[in-house]
Amino acid sequence: MDLLAGLGRVLAESIVADRDFPSFARATRDGYAVQAADSAKVPARLKLVGEVKAGDWPEPGTCAVARGQAVAIMTGAPLPAGADAVVMVEHTSSLTDHSVELRRSISAGENFVPRGAEARAGQLLLDRGRRLDHAEIAIAASAGKSRVQVYSKPRVAVLSTGDELVEIDATPGPAQIRNSNSYSLAAQVQNAGGEAVRLAIAPDERGPLRALILQGLDCDLLLLTGGVSAGKYDLVEQVFEELKAEFYFTGAEIQPGRPVVFGSCGADTPVRSDNASIAGEATEVSAPDKRFFFGLPGNPVSTMVTFDLFARPMIEALSGMTPQPLIFPRARLKSEIRTKTGLKRFLPAVLSGEFENAEVELVRWQGSGDIAALARANCYVVIPPDREQIDAGEWVPLWLR
Ligand code: AMP
Ligand code: MG
Repeated sequence: MDLLAGLGRVLAESIVADRDFPSFARATRDGYAVQAADSAKVPARLKLVGEVKAGDWPEPGTCAVARGQAVAIMTGAPLPAGADAVVMVEHTSSLTDHSVELRRSISAGENFVPRGAEARAGQLLLDRGRRLDHAEIAIAASAGKSRVQVYSKPRVAVLSTGDELVEIDATPGPAQIRNSNSYSLAAQVQNAGGEAVRLAIAPDERGPLRALILQGLDCDLLLLTGGVSAGKYDLVEQVFEELKAEFYFTGAEIQPGRPVVFGSCGADTPVRSDNASIAGEATEVSAPDKRFFFGLPGNPVSTMVTFDLFARPMIEALSGMTPQPLIFPRARLKSEIRTKTGLKRFLPAVLSGEFENAEVELVRWQGSGDIAALARANCYVVIPPDREQIDAGEWVPLWLR
């Protein structure tokens, strides 16, 4: 596809340098191309013998630098033959049109990049499996790749469960809430490089829940929210057990997100395939291979955190991306935190301060159902399970998703 259309997608081909980078010794300053030896004693007066601007090619026969000579040169222009350094214009005085005075000494190799120093022709620039962000787009563009091969996006089904949920354009009854998780999850899926398929809301009833799960298993990955805790009407795990699912984990020692489950249904699970549907009627067929699912807890913040920790890497893997380690930068805590031990905690916080002065402070929140707190936060502070108290001034790990 067109290079820019590939933004956010994963390369299915590797991209190599089509020529040396740079393809000529490139000046990195405006100034004068000289022989460094001529600047050993300053001030030094040199004879001005030519000019090269970006885009010019200095033919060695007509534009070269010998001892006692200088050629005016602009950033991005090729270094003329004979020159081994560029003196910045700020360190010179122009005497006449024919001579220039150097006021500072310079060493050979300064202020230009030798040919091929960034990459040699044929050298790998971007490997297959690399996600195309703006820097990768620039690299591909400079290697002349106006079209790129990318992997297709995995289809990720999003299924919210709960009798209390209504669609966001409906008016909720007194005990009902809007199904925001389907939207946050669809957005997270899209950001992670997947194609979100939002399914209808599943009630807390075995039959309809099972039907929607089977529909979701037709996708490359199924994400459910809600119904995975210990309540009487939390039926997600039970339905997967009926479907003979394999569970890789049921629960994680984290907060928010403790009840998260991860599993797969085998090739013999009958899935509802829209591809096989005739006149709109769903048909049950066998999935060609294992289909993975995550049961994410329904509290909106738990859903978001568990998506990022567990489902995002899975979507990245399904989209052909080389797995990336999770990154936890650090900032200095502004005020003391007290909490309970036992779980690794992710607490919404505001990161502020610039450069080396990164500071972080928790936002006030009512727990993992408090979606409004997220509007005040831009990160999470990560608290290890063995810490009851963290003092102001300590450097703490952050989760930036
Ligand atoms: P559950 O995990 O089903 O026990 O739900 C935990 C909490 O999250 C409950 O307060 C639910 O009402 C809420 N919740 C569950 N699903 C959603 C959803 N799709 N959108 C917003 N809130 C939800
Ligand atoms: Mg529920």
